[in-house]
Amino acid sequence: MAVAEGTLVDELRQNLPAERVLWRDYDLMLYEYDGSIDKHRPLAVVFPLSSTEVSQVVKLCNRYGVPYTARGAGTGLSGGAIPARGGVLISLARMTRILEIDVDNMRAIVEPGVVNLRLGQAMAQYGLTYVPDPSSQKACTIGGNVGENSGGPHTLRYGVTTNHTLGLEVVLPDGEIVHVGGNSSDSLGYDLVGLIVGSEGTLGVVTKVWVRLVPINETVKTILAVFGNMEDASSAVAGMIAQRIVPAAIEMMDNLTIRAIESRSPSGYPVDAQGVVLIEVDGLREEVDAQAPAVDEVCRHSGALSVRLARDEAERAALWAGRKGAFAAIGRLTPDYYTVDGVVPRTKLPATLARIQQISAESGFRIANVFHAGDGNLHPLILWDADIPGSEERVIDTGAEIMQVCAEAGGSLSGEHGIGMEKKDLMPLIFSQHDVAQMQRIKEAFDPDGLCNPGKVFPTAGRCMELFARRGRAAGW
Ligand SMILES: Cc1cc2nc3c(=O)[nH]c(=O)nc-3n(C[C@H](O)[C@H](O)[C@H](O)COP(=O)(O)OP(=O)(O)OC[C@H]3O[C@@H](n4cnc5c(N)ncnc54)[C@H](O)[C@@H]3O)c2cc1C
Repeated sequence: MAVAEGTLVDELRQNLPAERVLWRDYDLMLYEYDGSIDKHRPLAVVFPLSSTEVSQVVKLCNRYGVPYTARGAGTGLSGGAIPARGGVLISLARMTRILEIDVDNMRAIVEPGVVNLRLGQAMAQYGLTYVPDPSSQKACTIGGNVGENSGGPHTLRYGVTTNHTLGLEVVLPDGEIVHVGGNSSDSLGYDLVGLIVGSEGTLGVVTKVWVRLVPINETVKTILAVFGNMEDASSAVAGMIAQRIVPAAIEMMDNLTIRAIESRSPSGYPVDAQGVVLIEVDGLREEVDAQAPAVDEVCRHSGALSVRLARDEAERAALWAGRKGAFAAIGRLTPDYYTVDGVVPRTKLPATLARIQQISAESGFRIANVFHAGDGNLHPLILWDADIPGSEERVIDTGAEIMQVCAEAGGSLSGEHGIGMEKKDLMPLIFSQHDVAQMQRIKEAFDPDGLCNPGKVFPTAGRCMELFARRGRAAGW
């Protein structure tokens, strides 16, 4: 530990109570990773309870020239909350208060450590809900959702975190506390809320969030369509949207995922199905009553072997528990799995899934698919074993190959998990050098000293130049 770092840790321990500063190696080990593959140990972990304390920590880091990284629950899947260059990990996990609920205007002010599911549950008594529902919602925090601009099954119809964030309180990299956006759905000046949501903790530390609430729908129906192959399942997805049916959620799972779910906790998925599509329609009773049969018809027309409407709330909950527990279920099949997050236009789903199957055969890794099909947001889970020498490099290369397929299909590198450490060197697959340079200028305007969550989002100099050059040649730049 450098002298400045040692002094910084001493100062943190003087400024915060002992139980809110971790600095021993043994404790720090727990904070060196998130849900992705990368790892890096922090210098210290602090647990502030207020914006003022966050600001003090950031100012101290600035004084010693030490980087810092905001962390929610650490469920991120792209390395966003890993302190890539060491320094102080600022855990917002103890700032868990719902500060204000404005039922009439359907909004609330919450601290960043509020767990996503808890917010939804707390609003239910007012007939309201908070829409973005990542499958990790039992654990992930609103601050982390803001960091990643998270989505979830129901964002097909209702949008992602940015569409449900009205305002933010942010501790900027110079330690000053600012408010952007606020109570109204439109605010004057530059849309800094839009800029900060999804910036992966690289522009400041969010300490309060003004969230938009919506009324709980009058009726909801969940439908399970079972297919003999993934092509038919994909064509049902494209078919629904083509017919202007936009359900609240369209989720798809392949046979490997279905078997994993059913062996962990039976949820009502037929284990011999090659693909299932879980569709949810919600809204006013008349609208739902009209949509459900239309969904049924499209699925059957696309070759569904069966289409079943959940009979009651218990059956509906079981189907969703299976889907939301799918990643955990896959964890029982393999020592490790690597979650890839890419987007393709919905119409490209069949070709992309076929290509992923081919990549699986060529690489020798089993790949399970469970994803937000309505958004074309794929999550191939690559099953691997970290104890096999050389497998980490191979699994990362396989993930990068899938990303290349998504980019070539006109898609994107992430639907919701962000770029983080994991995909920063793949940015040239979809952005030009000028695009990245413009983003970098924004980062420098906020964080001229580069101490706020460094080592994320932006490609490593040199390593990416070759990719930029290759892509430039292909595009004729
Ligand atoms: C099983 C499983 C299922 C998942 N399903 C989904 C899904 O359906 N949809 C989806 O979008 N994601 C999903 N994820 C990914 C992950 O849960 C989300 O990205 C989530 O929003 C991360 O929240 P967190 O609190 O764990 O944040 P962390 O992982 O701790 O942090 C994520 C990023 O946000 C930044 N950050 C955290 N707090 C703050 C703050 N207060 N201020 C500024 N920056 C901050 C961090 O620096 C980091 O860059 C899943 C993950 C798992 C493990």
